[in-house]
Amino acid sequence: MPVLCAVCSTNNAALKRPKTGQVICKECFYAAFEDEVHRTIVTHQLFSPGETIAIGASGGKDSTVLAHIMKTLNDRHSYGLNLILLSIDEGITGYRDDSLETVKRNQVQYDLPLKVLSYKELYGWTMDAIVQQIGMKNNCTFCGVFRRQALDRGAMGLKVDKIVTGHNADDIAETVLMNILRGDIARLRRCTAITTGTEGAIPRSKPFKYTYEKEIVMYAYFKKLDYFSTECVYSPNAYRGHARAYLKDLESIRPSAIIDIIHSGDSLSVKSDVKMPIQGTCSRCGYISSQELCKACILLEGLNRGLPKLGIGKVSGSTLSSHIRKMELKETDDQSSESCSCAGEEGNKEGNKDGCCSGERTVSSVTVGDSKHLLDF
Ligand code: SF4
Repeated sequence: MPVLCAVCSTNNAALKRPKTGQVICKECFYAAFEDEVHRTIVTHQLFSPGETIAIGASGGKDSTVLAHIMKTLNDRHSYGLNLILLSIDEGITGYRDDSLETVKRNQVQYDLPLKVLSYKELYGWTMDAIVQQIGMKNNCTFCGVFRRQALDRGAMGLKVDKIVTGHNADDIAETVLMNILRGDIARLRRCTAITTGTEGAIPRSKPFKYTYEKEIVMYAYFKKLDYFSTECVYSPNAYRGHARAYLKDLESIRPSAIIDIIHSGDSLSVKSDVKMPIQGTCSRCGYISSQELCKACILLEGLNRGLPKLGIGKVSGSTLSSHIRKMELKETDDQSSESCSCAGEEGNKEGNKDGCCSGERTVSSVTVGDSKHLLDF
């Protein structure tokens, strides 16, 4: 016997909302999902009329749903924003080349301009070449550090006012857990911020801060959005994976655990004597850094010298300048702080959806077809 939607009491329910447990029809789910993101944008004053916003686009489910929602809400509520898709091509054969084809289709589907920037043109290296040199360990450190800077450089080139990324509530809760487990107080303090980078770099916002990953998957699925769902060929079995598995276990017992962890992160106060990084600019490339040389420059230096472990704390340093040696021991640069949420190894400590790993890991862990949340479709 069909169950009626708890909201409209007219249509048959199609799903049970992972976030609220509400049994709901598709149309009411769309409305609730979109209204919640709209409320987040308005409550946190993420944008102002006339601003140009770059949407970090990978072709994965989070950034595809983000592009769709930003376009929909901008039109519906007259935000007055100029939206641009910004993609980073890391140079990963069999992964990014395919996902970028999805972004190109999204560009047409959403009628938005698209800018693609590659590691090759920015750094002279593709991730394929980097992995050839360094192997599959620490590859995500390079990728995450370079991507963060690449997005900033792309956004500056486009003269945008802000960047939005598809970080969702699960990503942020995972990051809180990781920072607690690592005792990384500096990052713990800022990892739940809905907007970062207001003190120098182009601000980055997360309109999906309170949006559950499972609901993003469901929204993409029911709306039949065109997204890419293959895992990066260089995705490791990283530390973040353990935090994610733990979070999923918690969620299965108590769905509010995700929002509760974010709330805890928001409410933490850090003792005044905890040393926080001071933001400046890199003396070599001029981009944001809390050290004299930014992490991207150190990593690049290592690659170009044939010393790829420079900057990941594992080099003797006999051929390095003392300055760089000192830098590689510190490893506290902000540019390493926000990168790949699918990987999350060293250098990927806040997690990001800046156009990284398209999210197969979440599609596989939140598979729609066998979801207990689907009722009738
Ligand atoms: Fe880059 Fe993510 Fe692939 Fe790692 S898993 S190489 S961070 S795209």
